[in-house]
Formats: sequence, C-alpha cells, structure tokens
Amino acid sequence: MKKITILLVDDLNFMRTALRDIVETAGMTVAGEASNGLQAVNLYTETKPDVVLMDITMPIMNGIESLAKIMRFDPFARVIMCSAIGQNKYIIQSIQLGARDFIIKPFKPERILSSVLKVMGLNEEIR
Ligand SMILES: [Mg+2]
Repeated sequence: MKKITILLVDDLNFMRTALRDIVETAGMTVAGEASNGLQAVNLYTETKPDVVLMDITMPIMNGIESLAKIMRFDPFARVIMCSAIGQNKYIIQSIQLGARDFIIKPFKPERILSSVLKVMGLNEEIR
C-alpha cells in the first residue's frame, strides 16, 4: 500500500521535528516541511501531499490564508489545522474554508495519527 504523504507546516522547528517523529514512527512519509504559509502553498503545489498539518500563527503568511490558497488550488486538499490554545476563534473559519479537522496544541501523538487516518477515510488501527 502506498505510504501516506504529509506536508508539515509550522514556523517552529521543534514542532515540525515533533510532528515528523510522530508520522514517521507510524510509517507515514513527510512530503516536505514549511515554516510559513507561503512556503506551504508552494510545497503543496509541488508535492501534492495526501494530508497537510497546518499551524495558524506564522510569519509572512498565516495558516488561514495558506489554507484558503491551497483549497483554491485543490478543492480536495485534506488540511488539518494544528493550533495553540486560544486560537479557537479560527475553528469555524477554518472549517468553512475547507479544513477537515482542527487539533489544539499541545497534542498527543495519537490525536495527530487518528486525525490523519480519519481524513484519509481509513479506519483507525492504532491505539
Ligand atoms: Mg506558529
């Protein structure tokens, strides 16, 4: 079976590293890492990942604007927003723009993996 490819988007290096560890440990492949929303749009169009894990607060272009641009490029994009506590006001806006899920940081690895499987339409086989 083809490995699930994931684009990691966060301005914090340690957060991208943590996400990389989580998804690679689960046998998924990192399609790329972006540290701002603009880079995320560019990498999305280049790599067409299965899933995007998208931070919201970032320099140059935030995650909401990046989400909107990605959805315009690919209406079937599977984007999961990952944001800090206190950013709940963005949940409805994200869903309206087409985000498939919304994860609040700090998160448990299981939360990331179950969300990825859910948006891929796969049954959760991990606990
Ligand atoms: Mg951030």
